[in-house]
Amino acid sequence: MLEPRERKNLMSQILTSQAAAVEAPFGKVGPTWQESLKLAVRSGRELLKAVDLPLELSNADAEADFPVFAPWEYIRRMHPSRADDPLLLQVLGTHHEVGSTDGQLDPVGDSQVQWTPGLLKKYARRALLITSGACAVHCRYCFRRHFPYNESPTGPSGWQPALDAIASDASIDEVILSGGDPLSVRDSSLQWLIHAIDGIPHVRRIRVHTRFPVMIPQRVCEPLLAWVSGSRCAMVFVLHFNHAFEMDEDVVAAISKLRSAGATLLNQSVLLKGINDSVDAQRELCQRLINVQVIPYYLHQLDRVRGATHFEVSDKLARKIIGGLRKELPGYGVPQLVREIAGEPSKSPV
Ligand SMILES: *Cc1c(COP(=O)(O)O)cnc(C)c1O
Ligand code: SF4
Repeated sequence: MLEPRERKNLMSQILTSQAAAVEAPFGKVGPTWQESLKLAVRSGRELLKAVDLPLELSNADAEADFPVFAPWEYIRRMHPSRADDPLLLQVLGTHHEVGSTDGQLDPVGDSQVQWTPGLLKKYARRALLITSGACAVHCRYCFRRHFPYNESPTGPSGWQPALDAIASDASIDEVILSGGDPLSVRDSSLQWLIHAIDGIPHVRRIRVHTRFPVMIPQRVCEPLLAWVSGSRCAMVFVLHFNHAFEMDEDVVAAISKLRSAGATLLNQSVLLKGINDSVDAQRELCQRLINVQVIPYYLHQLDRVRGATHFEVSDKLARKIIGGLRKELPGYGVPQLVREIAGEPSKSPV
């Protein structure tokens, strides 16, 4: 981890001289979000080359198990020549992932709670739709890295059985669009889906779990804002920042657009060893979040998925970090430290 002072220097560099960081392969206007997905880096070697680090830090076996995938908008925020960069470590496949039999393939029991294909019903009154298997990035610690996404239907006809199930259960008052990342679906389809959910009278809230505004901020475009502001339901966006360095001007602009469209904005993070496992790192992240009106919601203890257990932080340190945050932040700036235990009726406080 960086020393606080060093981090502060880095932070101001990143905020003031972003263009001096890694150059992206496009000009001033910038690509659309779909173009960004196409242009995204898909190998550890290409990624390491972009941030000027030795190519030997990549690992082909790790990538064979779970391919590297990172958009340029994110890579540009990394600090060149730093093998311990907290953004790089979230996306680079390494030798730590290989050969370990620690952890499980489905650590949170998702396959046990399928209501219809792609629809999970784990908790009271909330149903979660795997809206799409695709993401704006591949996070190495992802608890769904082995989930059979391709078996989850996507698009209007694929979603119909899930919508019928939600309509048939009047206890459901919140539909969570998750994935993968629901914003990898085109807006015309999402518009259709929101309209269909709006038509189920007992649903009052729609929640969108997404990393797109952090990874590819131009995803927050006019057609998206139209369905966000057009819904009858209360709209909640749960973003996924893990580190203060992930927030640049473009990301902040995307956040204000979402807020102007009427969405409540929350953040969930995963506590990750060597990335954000200090009071300073978490404090900086939470401060920056509440400064832009995003409320820290959950800080997750790692789900012990195979290939990612080297990111695990002990409960003892996790509690110490939260204790440190309580001393430094307003109450609304401190996230709930939770772990997901398969079979429990909610996320469990640590
Ligand atoms: C985490 C999760 C939810 C949402 O839980 P909240 O505590 O309401 O944020 C809902 N369904 C599933 C399947 C989940 O994994
Ligand atoms: S964006 Fe979410 S679902 Fe996608 S790889 Fe990252 S943690 Fe997993």
